[in-house]
Formats: sequence, structure tokens, C-alpha cells
Amino acid sequence: MKIERLLSKIKGIVLRNERLSNHTSIGIGGPADYLIIPEDVDDVRRVMTFSTEGEINFLFLGQGSNVLIGDDGFRGIVLKFSEGRGLQSVCFLDSFRMEVQAGTPLKRLINVSQERGLSGLEFAIGIPGSLGGAIWTNAGANSHAIGSIVERVTVIKEDGEIKELSDKEIEFSYRYSTFQDKKWFIWKAVLRLEPSTPSEIAKKVRIFWEKRKKQPFSYPSAGCVFKNPPGDFAGRLIEQAGCKGLVIGGAKVSESHANFIVNIGGAKAKDVLQLMEIIRERVKEKFGIELEPEIAIYT
Ligand SMILES: Cc1cc2nc3c(=O)[nH]c(=O)nc-3n(C[C@H](O)[C@H](O)[C@H](O)COP(=O)(O)OP(=O)(O)OC[C@H]3O[C@@H](n4cnc5c(N)ncnc54)[C@H](O)[C@@H]3O)c2cc1C
Repeated sequence: MKIERLLSKIKGIVLRNERLSNHTSIGIGGPADYLIIPEDVDDVRRVMTFSTEGEINFLFLGQGSNVLIGDDGFRGIVLKFSEGRGLQSVCFLDSFRMEVQAGTPLKRLINVSQERGLSGLEFAIGIPGSLGGAIWTNAGANSHAIGSIVERVTVIKEDGEIKELSDKEIEFSYRYSTFQDKKWFIWKAVLRLEPSTPSEIAKKVRIFWEKRKKQPFSYPSAGCVFKNPPGDFAGRLIEQAGCKGLVIGGAKVSESHANFIVNIGGAKAKDVLQLMEIIRERVKEKFGIELEPEIAIYT
């Protein structure tokens, strides 16, 4: 099937040569050949099966808040979720469980569960992601992570097959999920929450929000760049290795949180990659520790 035939069947939005810097929280990324904002899961399946026939690459993007995309962009189709349309339904299955589609922003999930008096998502306040991206990353904060409230996940495999996985079939650990080793689309998930009250939840949300104030919100970023090594904090090691405030091009190691690289204006992916390299070298030299990236890199 020719790409034009595929595109004519898409119900959602199709953009050509779209700059991905418009779709990543750090504001970096060259053009994608095609960026599709799917209307529904059929759009996603169409692109995936088309791609499996070997004709074109594809990449999923939620809110683009945990990725670094190269300055040359992406050759193929980017499937982008979370633009206020498509794949964002939230449905309560019973008193404690909700089924949520991948594009739903975490912020909306916190609000919806708070209204219902259901606890479990408060930790995610301030994490600017979609459910799909959060599950892929096993996003977390304050000793909680999304994986612990996931009961099951429905995915679309490369060949278009729909598969349901129970929590026992999914491995979640610190910033890791099974899905990082697959090219599957995380379509929807059932989350299991605990009974509480809206005011109790609001209180927890406020406490978690207060703790976030140290994070550098005044410049665009992709959140923490490196994973914390066991028993330590990447931010502490980076700061002690003298990297705070380092600048390359438009990218800077944040003054307020050394594990954030911020875009102070016109940053390129290559600037961020160079800074990451310097940080890794200096931390390795001073502490003998190899830092591992937390952000997903597509360069
Ligand atoms: C200011 C700031 C603070 C942050 N704080 C935190 C924090 O406290 N804790 C934390 O864990 N993270 C944090 N992050 C990082 C980020 O917000 C989270 O990891 C978030 O869950 C990523 O979701 P996303 O939708 O933006 O994913 P993206 O960045 O769009 O994608 C991340 C990865 O998931 C894949 N993906 C996305 N959707 C799907 C899907 N439906 N199916 C299959 N694969 C998919 C992408 O291909 C990519 O590999 C922060 C980021 C910022 C900018």
C-alpha cells in the first residue's frame, strides 16, 4: 500500500514535515516526515500494520515530556497522543477501578479520581505525561510509581493483534516496564485505586506539589535526564561533579536541579547529548558510577 493510500484512510490529523520541537516539552526535535494525531485505535492499527509490511518506521509520542529527538527529526510516521482528541476516554468499571486510554493526561486522571474520592494517583501531580508514556516509563515520584496501580494493560502488537496483559505478565521496576523491550502500542489500562475522600486526596496532592517546587519549571526540559543509581541521587552526583550551570549552545544543566537539562533558548539535541556526555564522564571519574539515561533518546 502506498503511503498516500494509508494517509487517505486516517480519520485523525495528518501533518507533513512537522517539527517535533512543537511536540516535546524540551522544545527540541527536527521534522517528522508525517505526524499523525489518531482519532481512534483503528488509525493506530492501520499505521502499525502498514509499517510492519516493511515500508516505513513509526514512533509513539505521548506528551513528549520524557524524550530527546534528534535535530534531523524522524524519518517515518510519528503517532502523537494527547492533543485533546482521540484515545482519551476514562471509564469507571466499578467503585475502585477505571479503564483509561493511553492519551489521557495524568493531570486529568488525578482530577477525575479526586472527584470520585479515589486515592493512588496523587504522587503524579506535576508529572506532565500521558498514561501511555507513564506506563512505558513506569513514571513515579515520592516512592510511588504508576506500575503499582496497574491491573492490566491492553496493547496492539506490531501485526495489529490486540493482546491483554495482566499485572503478573508485566514487569515494572524503577523507570522500567516490559514495554521498553517491545514495539507495542499501549492502548489502554485498568488502574486499581483505593477508597478515600476528595479532601484527603487534595491534601496529599498539595503535599506532593510542595515537594516539587525545587524543580526548574521556568525553562523547558524533559524532566530528569539520568536515572538515580541504587542508593544515591543522580542530581547530587552531577552537582558534586561540578556540572551545575554548565552550558553548551542553548542547553544548560539547571542551577536549581542538576539532573535537569533545560533549554535556555534554541537548544539542539546535539547540545544536550554533549552535556550528557560531559556529565557521564565527570561523574564516572569522580565517583566511579556510570549514569544511565532516564530520557528516551531518538537521535
Ligand atoms: C518538568 C517535568 C517533570 C517531570 N517529573 C517526572 C517525575 O517526577 N517522575 C517521572 O517518572 N517522570 C517525570 N517526568 C518525565 C515525564 O513527564 C514522564 O516520564 C511521563 O510519564 C512521560 O509521558 P509522556 O506522555 O510525555 O511520554 P513521551 O515522552 O511522549 O514518551 C516516553 C516514551 O514512551 C513511549 N510511549 C508514549 N506513549 C506510548 C504508548 N501509548 N504506547 C507505547 N509507547 C508509548 C514513547 O515512544 C517514548 O519512548 C517529568 C518531565 C518534566 C518535563
